[in-house]
Amino acid sequence: MNIFLIGAPGCGKGTQSEFLVHKKNFQHLSTGNIFRHHLKNETPLGLSAKKYMKEGKLVPDGITIDMVKDSLASIDNQQNLVFDGFPRNLKQAQAFDKILDTSHRQLDWIFYLEVSDAKIIERLAGRLYAPKSGRVYHKTQKPPQKEGFCDESGEELAQREDDKEEVILKRLKIFWEDTRPLLDYYKEKFTLKTLDGEKSPEDIFQDILSIISS
Ligand code: AMP
Repeated sequence: MNIFLIGAPGCGKGTQSEFLVHKKNFQHLSTGNIFRHHLKNETPLGLSAKKYMKEGKLVPDGITIDMVKDSLASIDNQQNLVFDGFPRNLKQAQAFDKILDTSHRQLDWIFYLEVSDAKIIERLAGRLYAPKSGRVYHKTQKPPQKEGFCDESGEELAQREDDKEEVILKRLKIFWEDTRPLLDYYKEKFTLKTLDGEKSPEDIFQDILSIISS
């Protein structure tokens, strides 16, 4: 089964992907995570993506599409996959159709996690992460036991460069201008379901489970 999660940055795509990975044996294909991995390891791909990511802009389509093609090539096409953060504009969506075709896959479900802009800003501005363990916290909604440090690794927590307020606003603008119009593109093609992304993560996951097992 192939699922595509679409929504504004901070709408909970990553959290729902983690649930699918741990509870339903999905593999997670997150272009944001792949870019961050390359950035951390200072690979040529990471260096070319760096300035776009830092400013909250989309990495150019050619680079992103090639990266997704490469990632998919090494994954068995029977493996359940959750696509998170790709495609993000019309050009990527059209390329994605071709990539899916050539890898003999089809999208079974598309879930739009709908969250208000005010909530997105509140979520992202308070988000903290542990660079090594990868755990994600929130200053008020999911605080660590010891302020500023990871419960698991004890390392100091950091704020993503692109979670600074001025960058969040740019990312939201791109979502409304480039990504959200994809809902119309997919409405005509696939089974698209809009979910209330302001519910608790567990409740959203139950909504997803009841749909995919129906
Ligand atoms: P995310 O973690 O999905 O919010 O992605 C973080 C950043 O990675 C984005 O702000 C972009 O700079 C870059 N990125 C992730 N996915 C894409 C994509 N599909 N197209 C272009 N850039 C992307």
